[in-house]
Amino acid sequence: MTPRVAPARTAAGHGKAGEKIVPRESKASRRQRGIEFCARMHERYPGVQSALDYHDPFTLVVCVMLSAQTTDAGVNRVTPELFRRWPTPQAMAQADPAEVGEVIHSIGFWRAKAAHCVELSQMIMSDFGGEVPRTMEELCRLPGVGRKTANIVLNKAFGICEGIAVDTHVFRIATRMGFTRASTPAAAEKDLLDLLPQELWTYVNEEWIHFGRDTCTAQRPKCEGCPCADICPSAFKAAKAGRRGPAKGAGKAGAKGARSGKRAADSARGKKTSERDS
Ligand code: SF4
Repeated sequence: MTPRVAPARTAAGHGKAGEKIVPRESKASRRQRGIEFCARMHERYPGVQSALDYHDPFTLVVCVMLSAQTTDAGVNRVTPELFRRWPTPQAMAQADPAEVGEVIHSIGFWRAKAAHCVELSQMIMSDFGGEVPRTMEELCRLPGVGRKTANIVLNKAFGICEGIAVDTHVFRIATRMGFTRASTPAAAEKDLLDLLPQELWTYVNEEWIHFGRDTCTAQRPKCEGCPCADICPSAFKAAKAGRRGPAKGAGKAGAKGARSGKRAADSARGKKTSERDS
């Protein structure tokens, strides 16, 4: 059953000299909104699957690594030929990065990604007996793989949920919803793990990505008709305030959140190519 909570507290009272008082939200209230938000996402996107075409842990780790700064559709256009020529870590480990680059040159950062394809395959062969590793620590050793990619691989390939993959959509939504004030995706992940019960973690990345693409978009979020407007402190404010916007009703997340928005956006978009961003 979907839990229901009271609307987010967005109304400001008035203090002594008439100054506005923005109520600080309790952790319990924020947690309740977080659980409710997840329930509504789960209702809205039941059984949602990754848009990436993969068929085993190796092709998944390669697909997710390739998807940084690139659309899933763009990755899906190059991977049939990529995996036809180099279908396994054994085969890819012996590939010439220049030839791999010729196959994937239509996607962003293709030179670095071609090198990562070969290098991560070589490490899988030399250090992990030809199998994609199953721990966060080991996955993060693979060239081109960071915590976000590792979270996705662990979750989808092995059913292990150690964390939440925070990409640009998850980061933007968590900030607008007042679930985090962090300035980096890594710090935002810690806040989300602290906020949400573990049984909900597994659904966050895929469901929130869909919501971020069709409703809570970076530019002009569709707050009219948003199923979560009643529990969102940034409702009807995010578009005016910028990509992330202040969450005025969620304590000091407002102006500070807006100021950190650009830094956060830069960080989420990634200065490196090792993480999924679409
Ligand atoms: S109300 Fe607007 S800002 Fe809030 S989650 Fe919905 S679309 Fe995003």
